[in-house]
Amino acid sequence: MLISQDDRLSFEKSVPGRRGVILPKERFCENDPFKNIPPHLKRQTTIGFPELGEPEVIRHFINLSRKNFSVDTHFYPLGSCTMKYNPKVNEWAARQEKFTALHPLQTEETAQGIFEILYELEEGLKEITGMDRFTLQPAAGAHGELTGMMLVRAYHASRSETKRTKVLVPDSSHGTNPASAALFGYHVVEVKSDSRGRVDLEDLKRHLDEHVACLMLTNPNTLGLFEKNILEITKLVHQYGGLLYYDGANLNPLLGIARPGDMGFDIIHVNLHKTFSTPHGGGGPGSGPVGVKSHLAAFLPGPLVEKTKNGFVWAKKNPQSVGRVKLFHGNVGVIIRAYTYLKTIGKEGLRQVSDAAILNANYMKEKLKETFQVAIDEPCMHEFVLSIKTFDAQGIHAGDIGKRLLDYGFHAPTVHFPLVVPEALMIEPTETEAKETLDRFIEAMEQIAKEIHEDPEKIKHAPHTLPVRRPNDVLAARKPILSYRDQLREKYLLAEAAA
Ligand SMILES: *Cc1c(COP(=O)(O)O)cnc(C)c1O
Repeated sequence: MLISQDDRLSFEKSVPGRRGVILPKERFCENDPFKNIPPHLKRQTTIGFPELGEPEVIRHFINLSRKNFSVDTHFYPLGSCTMKYNPKVNEWAARQEKFTALHPLQTEETAQGIFEILYELEEGLKEITGMDRFTLQPAAGAHGELTGMMLVRAYHASRSETKRTKVLVPDSSHGTNPASAALFGYHVVEVKSDSRGRVDLEDLKRHLDEHVACLMLTNPNTLGLFEKNILEITKLVHQYGGLLYYDGANLNPLLGIARPGDMGFDIIHVNLHKTFSTPHGGGGPGSGPVGVKSHLAAFLPGPLVEKTKNGFVWAKKNPQSVGRVKLFHGNVGVIIRAYTYLKTIGKEGLRQVSDAAILNANYMKEKLKETFQVAIDEPCMHEFVLSIKTFDAQGIHAGDIGKRLLDYGFHAPTVHFPLVVPEALMIEPTETEAKETLDRFIEAMEQIAKEIHEDPEKIKHAPHTLPVRRPNDVLAARKPILSYRDQLREKYLLAEAAA
């Protein structure tokens, strides 16, 4: 990866003996608080951190943060990821000492407040999705899917249906769906999309038999399209004894409009860190609560919160439960943020969220289709997909447009996903963006289309304005440089190679 001269300088500003803070001598040196630690357990060598004054450290990190794209600095239309603005009041709530100082092993009587929040969030999710019971334990969407697969197997096992080994997944599905099912040992079978981007009913019927454990489905799907035949799909799978799993990572188009529970789904996960406004994208923490209809409630991971006339308590362990999927009670900080979001936005606010998310996406789609090809040009839900295939002659890929958008001050949309669209560019504006921002993005896209015709090389080598330009994405994932020591090592290797 290319590191700008600036970064290198900040990393190498270390001067032996330079300090940012000087600790009170009497507390930390004369009166050694660690004196009871046996010598063999004490570190014998220095830790090797860079040695800098406080202003250099502050400047280093602030300057690094300014090189980043985030929802707080830029429009971030990353499809399927719902990078909406996260109100700061959620952060304020999660930071309150009354929450941060809680211990997960505290007794029920001493922690009624957080119990109430866990309970109320579950109630809210039940109402929003039409499910009967939720576990808040899973730490992310994919973790929720894995939990869902555990529930599917437990349910079929309880009915002695051990021959159900197949999980059906549409070809437009998010990659985590087949991955979660396969990781859990299911045989993944792909169901084809029809020419309008929906589940091909005839192909679905071909795969339905007594071996189907479940169908995993996203609705609206990753093309941003609502499955018009959803009731028929869920009825068909149920007729064959299979369960219906709903990937609810992106609930943004459904809030207060439609409920997976009413569509016939048995299990659902939701991503609190997408729809319910927790910052994400940096690798966590997230939260992927899993909801079920009552016939699956006995299998949920425990413990679950119950409301009694004497207050909130942990429910007794259910013997049929699949067991815990996470230590303690999930990522409670994320749960507090989601709870705050629901309480501040209210029922009517939620409906407005979805209305605006859908309106924003359709507005952009209609404007952009004058210049770009929409994969399937129908009214969309919260996101839509362009196909950049039309620029094949100029040798331009979806990723090149993503890179060029960075120069215009926009985070790239999702590229090369969903896989069913060649050269896909997937755009999700979310409800929190002003019309002026959407218009600026549309203008940038139109400008880029012009550049493709006039000077395609410019697009192929974008971005031109950022310190990191075209890193090798495979190496960046397989051999990440995560610390300044890695960077130094990399630098010496490069110098050696050059010598
Ligand atoms: C984000 C997403 C997931 C996975 O969620 P993680 O929290 O990243 O594990 C699954 N399905 C869809 C449709 C998603 O957009």
